[in-house]
Amino acid sequence: MQNAMTDPHHATFRNLLTLIREAEPRVDIDLVTLAYETAQQAHAGQKRISGEDYIIHPLGVATYLADLHYTDTTTIIAGLLHDVIEDTSYTIDALRKDFGDEIADIVMGVTVLEKLKYRGVERYLENLRKMFVAMAKDLRVIFIKFADRIDNLKTLHVWPHEKQLRIAQETAEIYAPIANRLGMGKIRGELEDLAFPYIDPDAYTWTKNLLLSIAPKREKYLDDVKDIIKKALAKEKIKPVDIHGRAKHLFSLYRKLLRYDRDISRIYDIITMRIIVNNLADCYATMGIIHQRWRPLKGRIKDYIANPKPNGYQSLHTTVFCEKGEILEFQIRTKKMHEEAEFGVAAHWRYKERSEQEGGSTTAKLDLEWIRELTRWHKRIHDKEEQLQKMKLDVFQNRIFVFTPKGEIIDLPEDATPIDFAYHIHTEVGNHCSSAIVNDHLVPLDTKLRSGDIVEIVTDKKRKGPSPDWLQFVKTTTARSKIKSQVKVNIVDWLKNIVPTTKK
Ligand code: MN
Repeated sequence: MQNAMTDPHHATFRNLLTLIREAEPRVDIDLVTLAYETAQQAHAGQKRISGEDYIIHPLGVATYLADLHYTDTTTIIAGLLHDVIEDTSYTIDALRKDFGDEIADIVMGVTVLEKLKYRGVERYLENLRKMFVAMAKDLRVIFIKFADRIDNLKTLHVWPHEKQLRIAQETAEIYAPIANRLGMGKIRGELEDLAFPYIDPDAYTWTKNLLLSIAPKREKYLDDVKDIIKKALAKEKIKPVDIHGRAKHLFSLYRKLLRYDRDISRIYDIITMRIIVNNLADCYATMGIIHQRWRPLKGRIKDYIANPKPNGYQSLHTTVFCEKGEILEFQIRTKKMHEEAEFGVAAHWRYKERSEQEGGSTTAKLDLEWIRELTRWHKRIHDKEEQLQKMKLDVFQNRIFVFTPKGEIIDLPEDATPIDFAYHIHTEVGNHCSSAIVNDHLVPLDTKLRSGDIVEIVTDKKRKGPSPDWLQFVKTTTARSKIKSQVKVNIVDWLKNIVPTTKK
């Protein structure tokens, strides 16, 4: 283990500690330090393809998480350790022993996600959804996954073209929509804008130059408008929390440009004015003040407070003929709405506060909220699939989601066993199942599987068929009927063999 004097990354780690302390003054610094040293030791000698020490990556992920301010120390520690199980000889058992179940479970969740492979959007989305539901035990897994992806995107330039494209597409098509669904606008924007140059370099350059061509003079203009607004609000005794200009994220601007035949003059929210106020009443009052001063464009007043977007986004939008006749969009919201627009579910995720107030058992409650959210989302994206649309929350509650060693998700009823799993894979796998390995441990065949388990079935070709004993513990009707029919066949075989012998 390296000490502060010899560790070249110690400054980065100290910066991380500072961020953590800001967010959570009573943090267990020793545990964070232990996590860093453990990760450092586990990844010792490993390099990223860029040639940097590998530890830079978990440090980057943890720093990003700490920067979010909505994540707790547990998440940050799990972020530091997120690649140790996948990439080093440090085991899950050691992790459990050294850092406890909570952190171990989160890291395991991230590791399982790591195993999923991108094979077409539809399939992957479906897999991801199932997995997310299974991982709903802890949303922090997803936060780490987002941070991991963002850190990887930042160093994507060193990878071969094919991999760049795959990662970038996967980011834009899967990660970003999920971040969007979770209302995490900031992360969604970052994911997309980091992926954009790899997906379409020309479009990226074009959009970036377009924005650069209008941004500087717009900046000066916004400063002037800001002064006018401030005075007008002060007259009505409204004290804004913040007023700032904001440029649209590049990828979302590009998408919008495509919808408008690349006609930039028809897009009014490229650079907007954002007004953050203290309460709901001030939101509407502020919009009134703006409308008194500048005439609003018809059909451009949007009340996402009364009618939030499906992902929960709340804000008032209005576009007006502003100073010097220029068209400008205003977005007005409370501080809470703003935080929720930027961080989405993460903004609700103040573990430390909640667990203090409610005595620690937060996960179950948050769980439900999260599953409900995903269920709603899933229903929407699969509008056509009527059957799925009727799917109720309780469908998930009686199901478990386990994984093949290749990361395929198998959906089974609660208390299902490796035998159920084996028959789900293939009748022959079930019939010749000789033993089962769950999370790298050999287990009895009647073991009850749990969501997130990675299950491997060992088959024996010489095995005659299923054991009738299995009928006592299997949970799926498939397994039951297949065992029954096989057992019958076997008895017939057995009789056939017996009968000639006795005749002899
Ligand atoms: Mn990673």
